[in-house]
Amino acid sequence: GDRTFLQVNYLISEISQILKQTFPKSIEINTDVPQDLWAISGDATQLHQVLMNLCVNARDAMPNGGRLSMIAENRYIDRNYAAMNIDASVGHYVAITVSDTGTGMPAEIVDRIFEPFFTTKEFGKGTGLGLSTVRGIIKSHGGFMNVYSEVGNGTRFNVYLPAAFENQ
Ligand code: ADP
Ligand code: MG
Repeated sequence: GDRTFLQVNYLISEISQILKQTFPKSIEINTDVPQDLWAISGDATQLHQVLMNLCVNARDAMPNGGRLSMIAENRYIDRNYAAMNIDASVGHYVAITVSDTGTGMPAEIVDRIFEPFFTTKEFGKGTGLGLSTVRGIIKSHGGFMNVYSEVGNGTRFNVYLPAAFENQ
């Protein structure tokens, strides 16, 4: 899609407005974004879809309510970090974290969540395409992502998008 310079703070505040209007009131929505966040270059529609997919999954994981947080921060990925993470490369990134206090997932589920059509939701409630789409969009932006989950405690997705500097 079309690439433009984007400020992730606008994206997050737009999404958080939508969530506050449409998600159950039992789900608390928190955001934390610094003023000096680096710009990124990306397709606004696709990145909107990325965050919405992660947030809808978070909502579905909290049928009895809980807390959904969206955080963004500037991150430099160094050689040591890149060496430990197969998808990561050295560079400047805007890191977006979407976390929930929901059901969490055991390791054998986490291993499969990016597979197209993998879903644990009942028939008609999920296509299993959300996270494979998310991963594809992030890769096409030169970014990467990872996930941490603990059964009974919740799940955290980290999405890294390359910073776009003026001299690039
Ligand atoms: P769908 O939402 O249609 O099932 P996704 O690709 O978006 O497909 O997610 C795949 C599966 O990953 C979900 O069915 C669910 O089992 C698991 N999952 C994704 N996000 C979360 C989350 N935040 N908490 C718990 N499980 C999750
Ligand atoms: Mg989904």
